[in-house]
Amino acid sequence: MRRTKYIFVTGGVSSSLGKGIVSASLGMLLKSRGYKVTIQKLDPYFNIDPGTLNPYEHGECFVTKDGAETDLDLGHYERFLNQSTTKENNVTSGMIYKKVIDNERKGNYLGKTVQVIPHITNEIKRRIKILGESEIYDIVITEIGGTVGDIESLPYIESVRQLKWELGEFNGLVIHLTLLPYISFTGEVKTKPTQHSVRSLMEKGIKADILVCRTEKHISHNIRKKLALFCNVKQEHVIESINTKIIYDIPCLLHIQNFDKVVLKHLNLSTVIPPNLKKWKSFVKKYKNPKYKVVIALVGKYVSLHDSYKSIIEALIHAGTKNEINVNIKWVYSEMIQDNNIQKYFEGVSGILVAPGFGNRGIEGKILTAKYARENKIPFFGICLGMQIAVIEFARNVLGMKKAESHEINPHSSYPVIRLMKNQKNIRQKGGTMRLGNWKCVLKEGTKIFSIYGKKEIWERHRHRYEFNNDYLENFSNFGMKAVGINPDTGLVEAFELENHVFFLGVQYHPEYKSTITKPHPLFTYFVQVANGNIDSQSYDYKEKNSMYGG
Ligand code: GLN
Repeated sequence: MRRTKYIFVTGGVSSSLGKGIVSASLGMLLKSRGYKVTIQKLDPYFNIDPGTLNPYEHGECFVTKDGAETDLDLGHYERFLNQSTTKENNVTSGMIYKKVIDNERKGNYLGKTVQVIPHITNEIKRRIKILGESEIYDIVITEIGGTVGDIESLPYIESVRQLKWELGEFNGLVIHLTLLPYISFTGEVKTKPTQHSVRSLMEKGIKADILVCRTEKHISHNIRKKLALFCNVKQEHVIESINTKIIYDIPCLLHIQNFDKVVLKHLNLSTVIPPNLKKWKSFVKKYKNPKYKVVIALVGKYVSLHDSYKSIIEALIHAGTKNEINVNIKWVYSEMIQDNNIQKYFEGVSGILVAPGFGNRGIEGKILTAKYARENKIPFFGICLGMQIAVIEFARNVLGMKKAESHEINPHSSYPVIRLMKNQKNIRQKGGTMRLGNWKCVLKEGTKIFSIYGKKEIWERHRHRYEFNNDYLENFSNFGMKAVGINPDTGLVEAFELENHVFFLGVQYHPEYKSTITKPHPLFTYFVQVANGNIDSQSYDYKEKNSMYGG
């Protein structure tokens, strides 16, 4: 039987120190030494999942292949580890409390008083151990959202304390990520907030085993010594996490301080096999030394918070890097776009990506964008809502249905080219009720998308409620907007391609969720290349270049 080891990552002093990236980096380093690793995020808020959260509250909602709407950190885990996560990898207080309350209503607690300890903490521990009990992983990394000292994270911290004790020596490890502020007028890096935060953790019964210190300046030997002394850790267990412009530098910066080695030693695991970072390093090198540069406009309504489109940004970076292209994103706020100013927004832009989204706001600007890209033959990539608006635009301006709409915009539309399906009509509950996760799609042979993927059957992740209305399918096809990807079970259109255009593709699914550093997504790769002008789109055979891409 596999004995899974558990690593807990807590945060201190401040939020937004990059716990997700440090966890993902550690996971990547351990995986590259041959260990089977997964990473889980525990979020101390009461939403059941972030699916109902406005992106401005919490950034992008990342969707797993099994259809869980999760925290954006799971995107980092997948991209860094080049492996999928599932619904078990993200747990919220909403899920924990709901489960306990449901159990209580069923009488499962046999008349006992239901309390935070032991009922909530037992449920938290169960959720952490689920991944270990799957017998797949050597190491489970659990990132605890929030900062030590927050009221809402107390049950999580208590659960970590109990679990670490239950697991015994060498089986559990606590990494505490803190901030070392730099006081510019004295030129000093300060350790006091970290000391307090470690002490606060200690008051709750947890001794941090390793400190990862986020810092603006490199930390000296003396600072390490001081932190070790005051925080009860070995000196080599004080690891600096220096501010970097590029997150992909972080794994290597941690590795040169022996971070992965001290973690493994503490867990009594072998360090004999060194990490194989060849692919990673070559990615970073290429990323830093591009030969070309393209400007891609990203049109959306949450553009002032770039985290709202995290996976799209990353997918563009992966695709650009693969082709030695620096992708410069021009953020375009869809609500500002009008007929008389549109040119200004897309001047100097070589490709236009219309992002996913919900609701009415900014929709007309997106429709104008699709028209502009279609008429001016600018490479266009519409994702989810981006595909839907391209369909609406085509119906209005090519097929002459001036009032074409989506049921999302107008439930009583006389030309609902995008509609609500019957099975969605009576759904009143918002959370978790969209078409979510992996769905199969069959690509039409002889199309551009088919040659890009190099295969017929694909699986991609979804997150939407509305669908193309097949009543209009023939009409669209007759005028050159071809349905090139179809769900074989439902007949729903998953992808549209416009004929006689350099690249005009709309996909109902979200390819961005599947792009990783070592496996850039073929659609993004192609889009970036077309935008860079190095594809003769009529004759391009993608199959060979892309045969590595898995389903
Ligand atoms: N709002 C649209 C729908 O629900 C598109 C969703 C999206 O872009 N993710 O179908």
